[in-house]
Amino acid sequence: MIALISVECPYCHARGNVLMSPGSFIIIGPCPECNQKIAIFWGQALALDTQIMSTASGEEKVRHVLKVLTSFLAKRLEELLLTDSASSDSEQFEPEANPWPKADEITAQLEMLDDAEAFKKLFGQPPRI
Ligand SMILES: [Zn+2]
Repeated sequence: MIALISVECPYCHARGNVLMSPGSFIIIGPCPECNQKIAIFWGQALALDTQIMSTASGEEKVRHVLKVLTSFLAKRLEELLLTDSASSDSEQFEPEANPWPKADEITAQLEMLDDAEAFKKLFGQPPRI
């Protein structure tokens, strides 16, 4: 789905709309107002180092963009997972139904092992040694 997102340049604070086409997760380019390099990622315009993005090698550009994205993601995840509301939610979290049998069910099944007929029903005929 094509999304029209509104972003603000982190350098000059100019606002603009950007069209994100399907499958595009990042747009890297210059701000049309101040010409500084920015990355549009996850609905946000992130400041890139224009010097690195203009003159560095491809590998250095990749490292720089990864550093900017990692820092952005870390901040977003901290907001999501380390806020007070998130921790109180986790305290109220009800675990899903316990998949393990309860102790009395285990005891009942263990007692069935002493019952030859129940044992055969569960495990089949015991092997002859
Ligand atoms: Zn700008």
